[in-house]
Formats: sequence, C-alpha cells, structure tokens
Amino acid sequence: MNKNALEILSKYYGYSSFRNGQEDIINSIISNNDVLAIMPTGGGKSICYQIPALVLDGVTLVISPLISLMKDQVDTLTSMNIEAVYINSSLGTREFNEILEGIENDKYKIIYVAPERLESFEFINIIRNKNISQLAIDEAHCVSQWGHDFRLSYRKISLFIDSLYKRPIITAFTATASNEVRKDIIKLLELNNPDTYITGFDRENLSINIVKSSGKNRYLLDYIENHKNESGIIYAATRKEVENIYQGLIKRNISVSRYHAGLSQEERKINQEEFIKDNIDIMVATNAFGMGIDKPNIRWVIHYNMPQSIENYYQEIGRAGRDGEKSECILLFAPGDLHIQKYLIDIGVENPQRKLFQHKKLQQMVDLVYSNSCYRKSILTYFGEEGKDDCNNCSNCLNEGEVVDKTLDAQKVISCIARMKRSFGTTMIVDVLRGSKNKKVIGLRFNELTTYGIMKDYSSEGLKNFINTLVSHGYLELVENLGARGSFPTIKLNEQSTKVIKGESKVEFKEAIVSKAI
Ligand code: ADP
Repeated sequence: MNKNALEILSKYYGYSSFRNGQEDIINSIISNNDVLAIMPTGGGKSICYQIPALVLDGVTLVISPLISLMKDQVDTLTSMNIEAVYINSSLGTREFNEILEGIENDKYKIIYVAPERLESFEFINIIRNKNISQLAIDEAHCVSQWGHDFRLSYRKISLFIDSLYKRPIITAFTATASNEVRKDIIKLLELNNPDTYITGFDRENLSINIVKSSGKNRYLLDYIENHKNESGIIYAATRKEVENIYQGLIKRNISVSRYHAGLSQEERKINQEEFIKDNIDIMVATNAFGMGIDKPNIRWVIHYNMPQSIENYYQEIGRAGRDGEKSECILLFAPGDLHIQKYLIDIGVENPQRKLFQHKKLQQMVDLVYSNSCYRKSILTYFGEEGKDDCNNCSNCLNEGEVVDKTLDAQKVISCIARMKRSFGTTMIVDVLRGSKNKKVIGLRFNELTTYGIMKDYSSEGLKNFINTLVSHGYLELVENLGARGSFPTIKLNEQSTKVIKGESKVEFKEAIVSKAI
C-alpha cells in the first residue's frame, strides 16, 4: 500500500478507501509505468490519474474530449486547493494567454486539454520544455475507429507526444473493453508495454431488467407514475423517437426535458444543466447524451429501444446510481428495435468492414436480450471479468419460471431450414413453417416440403422470437451478408443444430421466456 496515495485520498477527496482497481493503477503509474485502465462509467477513473499527478513531480496533462466535463473536474480540483486549469475552445484569447503564462511559471499541477488544442503552436512551444510527468488520456477509445465515438483529433496525440522533449508516463482510460479497441489504444497512443487493468465492471447497485414488450408507452407511463420525483433517463434510438416520447410526456405535465444532436448547442446545454441541477426529473435522449455526466442520483435508466452494442448499453445504464444507491435499469425490447438499429448502421457506416463489425456487435446485444442466463454475468463475461456467480438482481435471475422442453419445436425449425437448402432470413423461414401462400414461398416450391405449415400454431411474431432465442442460445447461426441495399442476415445450421436433430442435445428454456416469446 502506498501510504502517500492513501493520505491524499483521505486528505483531498475525503474517502477512506480505494475502490477496486484504483490502488493498483495508481501504484503502477507512480512506479513509472504506462497504464491502460478499463473501468466502467462511474468506476472512479479520475482519481486514478489525479492522485499520481499529486504524488509525481511536475505537471500532469489530461486529455479529455468533453468541455463540460473539464470544467466540472477543474472546479472540483480547485475547491480542493489543487492548482488545476483547462484549455479548450471556450476560452477567449486573453484567458488563454494568462493560462499560458501560468504554465510557463509552473503554476499548475493538473492541466486539462481538449485534443484539438494539442495542435496550438503557442501551447506546444511552452509545454514541450516543461516537466510533464504524466499524460493521461481520458475516453481513450476515441482514438479507435472500432470504438463508438471515434474522434480524428485523438489521432494527433502521438504526434504531440513526439514533439515533447521528454516522454511522460502515458496513461489511457476508457470504459470500452473490446479487443479491437484495446489494441488500437496501445498502438495509436504508443503506450509502452502498459500495465493493463480491467476492473470493477460490476455495478452491484444496478438491477438489470429486460422486458420484451409491445406496450412500451403504457409501461413507461406506469413506471413514471410509480416513481414520482425520481431522476431518470429514457434513451431512445432516434431523434424522432426522442421527440415523440418527449411530447407525450410534456402533454401529461411530467417534469421532462430532451437532448439530441438535432437541437442547438445552446438548448442542449440548458437542458443538460436543468437535469443535473434537479430542476427537471426526466431526460429523454439519444445516445448523444450522458458522456462524462457525474450526476449522482439518477435512480433509473429506461431504454425505450435496444442499443447498438453491449458497450453502449453498459455505458448508458452506468449513468444510474453513481451514488451507490439501488437503481433500476430497464430495457424495453421489441423486435422492431433490431430493424431500427440495423437501418442506422446501414445508413450511418460506410466502410464495409466496419459495417459488418457493427452488425456483429449488434448481434451480441440481441443475443444478450434473448439469453436466459444471468444478464449481469453475461455482460461481465463479455467485458472480460470471468468467474462471477449469478447476481440475483436481474430479470433473468429473478424470473422463477419452470424450465420447459422445447426440443421438438426446435427440431421442426431446424429440419425446415435443412430442407430449404439455401440460406434464408428469418421471415422466409417463418413463412414456410406457418404455411404462408406468398409468391416467393410458392415460387420456390417450399409448399411441397414436409415441414411446410408444421408450426401454424405459432403467431408470426412468436415464431420469429423463438428462432431468435434459438440463435442467441447457439442452436442456430446468424450470418450477416452484405448486399447492394445494405446488409441482410440469414440463418445457417451449425454443429449444435445437428445435435438437436439427432436427439443428442435438448433445448430447454425458462417458461416465462418461452411464453413471452410465443
Ligand atoms: P468515471 O470513471 O466515470 O470517470 P469518476 O472518476 O467521475 O468516474 O468517479 C465517479 C464518482 O465516484 C465520483 O463522484 C467520485 O468522487 C467517486 N469516487 C471515486 N473514487 C472513490 C472512492 N475511492 N471512494 C468513494 N467514492 C469514489
């Protein structure tokens, strides 16, 4: 234990102990090592670079993409009597010059810098001669194209490092843990054999619930009615959806605001502040909202639509319960969400390779939604934290339904797909199993198959859900194909499917999942 670090923690921050991972990270940095730290939103990253900044000689530069976050952080540090300042586009020339003079005179211990400011000639000229002990890069995933928030200005960081007379310790922080992003961070930020930490992804105070619901509006209104005066966020996939929900709630005199990229910067700022100051209870927003927001008392986060990846999902629900109190996270899922997200990827992503990658991420999210094991455990495993027990605080753990045997139905689906020979999408398979007379089915003579119409007792939606559930449990495989009009998924058989057909493997789901699905 580094006594100095612990003393600083209690003297400046008023906390008596470190959170999981913080101490190891701090020790690594103080011992002169580069660090890559992957911690969830709200996990306490700032302390990990701020305490070394105070222990080490010289100055720490913190690169952060968020103007509002910088101001908050600097205000907090200043209130603790730590000399800190920020440099970003909000400064006037006079202020900027004053700060440069302060840097020249070694006034500051911690300097927050927006990445685009690293190109400022005046700034480089002064800082390059200074004793920079640490360069901390917050939201480091912004350097990677595979992250969900790529920023070109992050690519300039390595040039900046090269321009310094002495290479500082470089530390990178992010909540995004995928392998591709991790590799990119190490390579593009030129980390030197960094100590890598993946820590504390578990947020035990958050209950994780996924509700497969076609009555989302009713659910939302009931929920809000039962959680009066609580602070909450509703995330929706598109601006239009945000506007619809917002208008619906305003009409009912609910204390609500909105946030999406279609609003002016000024309006976004005001809305965010009103929410943070508790002048309004609820924020309806796209995923443009929330990065860097440190509002402690958000009691619930509802996803009106399924997000595009598990990373997005976990980062967004991570905004709830930062004060450690119990908070609820609810994802309202309807199969239409999948189409919205696929569409957004198809129109929003040009690079074909990246498009496939995003579809893969989306499929992992879908698999989570349809899984019947502990949601928290599945998410933590996804982030690389193995060996957790079931949490008893998610809707799968708390769902006490009986296990039902769906092997026969699974065999019907699998043998139908086998008989259709070529790969088709779910809709076509559902049509054949339900005995549809549509032209394509008849044209391909699928009405002559022995499996034609053998699952008429399912609704079309229910059968789609059942097939999705089979995919998410690995009994079938979904393949994304790139076509002229965007990507389209088809279903393929795999080894597991063969085992089911041969009777070597049973298909069992919890009753509640199946009855929701049918
Ligand atoms: P993020 O990882 O999202 O950047 P922050 O650094 O903003 O998270 O920390 C989230 C909250 O947790 C802050 O309010 C911070 O003061 C608090 N926190 C951080 N470390 C500790 C600790 N060791 N004990 C208690 N609270 C802590």
